[in-house]
Amino acid sequence: MARYRAALCRQCRREGIKLYLKGDRCITSKCAFERRPYIPGMHHDTARSRKLSEYGKQLREKQKVKRIYGVFERQFRKYFEIANQRQGETGENLLKILERRLDNTVHKSGFAVSRREGRQIVLHGIVKINGKVVNIASYEVKPGEKITVTEKGAGMASVKKALLEASKKRTVPTWIEMNFEKNEATIKNEPVRADIGLPVQEQLIVELYSK
Ligand code: SF4
Repeated sequence: MARYRAALCRQCRREGIKLYLKGDRCITSKCAFERRPYIPGMHHDTARSRKLSEYGKQLREKQKVKRIYGVFERQFRKYFEIANQRQGETGENLLKILERRLDNTVHKSGFAVSRREGRQIVLHGIVKINGKVVNIASYEVKPGEKITVTEKGAGMASVKKALLEASKKRTVPTWIEMNFEKNEATIKNEPVRADIGLPVQEQLIVELYSK
């Protein structure tokens, strides 16, 4: 996950939806989008009422997905090329590739409260795949792989808090089997579109890049 320097909450307000970039805070009344659900800046009324062109809609959809997964343009474009070469629908393939990134997967398994925190714990070298440390946030997980954390990771307050919350909520998607007794996630299969569940129109991104 790349680092976006723009304030995270501004990104949600710019895209007009909650992107859930801050973990727990996103589901509290402190969420900036709940309090100010309009485009940031002095001219937000004009910006909101302006009708977007087709190109504008496609561009916004791409930005939204990039921001959700925290990926920069060059890598996003690369993912698109890979998605285009795979069998099936390109837009759906693109989301599946992003969903299988290691930073996203550790977040979805419950080891981190957000994708951003997932990226941090991966880069800290505390995430293991099949017993070996992998510190590459963009690593694409595969069915059969087991994700755990090192002893040091298991002792980290942020990881413990995230796992406790996740074990209470039990919202781990069905493509991941999470064992909260062992703190071990197993990738059961590739995610399908319904597992990803994002409110995005990936077809618009395909149209944008197909011009
Ligand atoms: Fe977006 Fe609200 Fe989370 Fe801020 S707190 S990142 S506005 S969802």
